[in-house]
Amino acid sequence: MSTEKINQIVEEAKASFQSCQNPDELYKSKVKVLGKKGALSLVMQEMKNLSPEERPAFGQSVNEAKKSLESLYASLSEELVKQEMAQKLAQSMLDPELPGFEVKTGTYHPIELVIREMIDILSRIGFSVRLGPLIEHDDLNFTALNFPEDHPAREMQDTFYMKHDHVLRTHTSPIQVRTLRSESLPLRILAPGSVFRCDSDTTHAPNFYQVEGLWVDKKVSMAHLKGVVDFFAKSYFGDKTQTRFRPSFFPFTEPSAEVDCTCPLCAGQGCRVCSKTGWIEIGGCGLVHPNVLKMSDVDPDQWQGFAFGFGVERMAMIKYRLSDIRLFNENDLRFLEQFR
Ligand SMILES: [Zn+2]
Repeated sequence: MSTEKINQIVEEAKASFQSCQNPDELYKSKVKVLGKKGALSLVMQEMKNLSPEERPAFGQSVNEAKKSLESLYASLSEELVKQEMAQKLAQSMLDPELPGFEVKTGTYHPIELVIREMIDILSRIGFSVRLGPLIEHDDLNFTALNFPEDHPAREMQDTFYMKHDHVLRTHTSPIQVRTLRSESLPLRILAPGSVFRCDSDTTHAPNFYQVEGLWVDKKVSMAHLKGVVDFFAKSYFGDKTQTRFRPSFFPFTEPSAEVDCTCPLCAGQGCRVCSKTGWIEIGGCGLVHPNVLKMSDVDPDQWQGFAFGFGVERMAMIKYRLSDIRLFNENDLRFLEQFR
């Protein structure tokens, strides 16, 4: 009697499963027979009315019924999910076999790449970045840096003047003054950023970029400066690069020097870029002039410092072998995409 009932439940459930049109219907149909309050669970309650001899065979047939229904459910469910997906795809405009759209990602501008690399190299020996405004007071751009009143750099043909004694900064050195006046010593800072001068040809642009460094400490000498500049040149252009200092003059450093390094393009052998000399100028440097320290309330008898400055465009032109500085500002994608 009981086994017949089980068979009947199974047959009805199979018919019900097979008539289902979608996975949801099928699931509901499954719960009706296999769920906690489903038909097969209820039939199990009849177990208690059976004699102990009948119980094992009854239990086994209920389990077999469950197994066969669950396996039928699994195969039908897979089939219905596939059908449903196929219907959805047929109704939508989506074509999953179309090739994807290419996502165009931007690239860093070569100037940005070079600045980042310069900061990365110098941060390894303790330098950290400080920034400052592009429009500076004449005092911070010139006077506090020991430029005399009649210095040619102050003239209109070299400097962009704004109203009320302000200028577009002609170098990032005002950041050195700002930092000396506001932070405690010793310090090691880098001042990267754009600067402005009235100048324009294949190697000069009216707006260009500098990275300057300043190290102020007790007992800082020209030897430390040479060490830092040499470390930088070797890290940036390669281990075999050599550096040399040529005496020069800047109002804010004393002594002052121009920095040359062996031409990275011909390894010092002489080529068109280095005008056959094997050397290439990369920047200027020197020990901070005592007047500059005094004007920032730093006692030059206790503290010394050195400063150096590199032109970013020049670094980029040497590294990427470019001959025209204007490429950096033309926004020609054919040029910019090469720095991917
Ligand atoms: Zn060369």
